[in-house]
Amino acid sequence: MSKIYCIANQKGGVGKTTTAVNLAAALAEMSYRVLLIDLDPQGNATTGSGIDKVKLLPSIYEAIIGQADLKRVITHSQNGYDVAGANRRLASAEEELLGAEQKELALKKLLSPLEDEYDVVLIDCPPTLSILTINAFSASAGLIIPMTCEYFSLEGVSDLLLTIRAVREQINGDLVISGLLRVKFDPRITLQRQVSDQLTEFFGKSMFGSVVPTNVRLAEAPSHGLSGLNYDSSSRGAQAYRSFAEEFGKREKLHKLIKRGKKGK
Ligand code: ADP
Ligand code: MG
Repeated sequence: MSKIYCIANQKGGVGKTTTAVNLAAALAEMSYRVLLIDLDPQGNATTGSGIDKVKLLPSIYEAIIGQADLKRVITHSQNGYDVAGANRRLASAEEELLGAEQKELALKKLLSPLEDEYDVVLIDCPPTLSILTINAFSASAGLIIPMTCEYFSLEGVSDLLLTIRAVREQINGDLVISGLLRVKFDPRITLQRQVSDQLTEFFGKSMFGSVVPTNVRLAEAPSHGLSGLNYDSSSRGAQAYRSFAEEFGKREKLHKLIKRGKKGK
């Protein structure tokens, strides 16, 4: 049985895609069978996984609107995990879903036949609280929230918490925050330290202990279609995401829940 997580924050540029790609690669390295779903019409997780988003047909969009089997969308990436890719067409899903019945549950329904094929499914969300993000929340057991420690990060979190509460009350009572991950973190910068302290005070144990530093190799990797781990395995960025994956796996008890499905076992 797979466990589904979304990587969400309605702010852009806070490291959602970098976290989705590198966590997927790190979990794959740990022998988990991982599916990464790109739910952002910008298709950055698709490109960052070495897949040409322009030529992609069918994509996650065709699957969501019921025109293609999700299995036909999925390809294997050179980072060790599978990907269901996206491109600009996904932006039309908003309109297409509006009239649909149970429009919030389209993704959840798509994923249920794949339950036995993957241990972990990661969904890279767009930087909005749109129907696509609501679909991701509805399908997920947990939410990973990457955050940069800037002043405006604190503002964004309250909107996100309201949306999570609404989804919990109306659609998916099981949704929990798996944790907040500090990315592009530099504790030498006073403001970052202060924001980090405030977040820790507010979220307590929900903060992941692992932090991801600013690391240029993580920023370079996507242009090679690689995760940071596959691009420069010993870089600080790669090591940070490995530590995070370890912590995340422990927190979510991935080894216990899905040992049966682990590769080669
Ligand atoms: P989002 O998906 O939230 O919009 P991205 O993951 O695309 O954010 O990150 C935004 C930009 O910051 C990208 O150019 C990415 O390469 C860069 N970036 C993300 N994390 C790091 C990091 N730890 N160190 C350096 N650059 C990073
Ligand atoms: Mg992104």
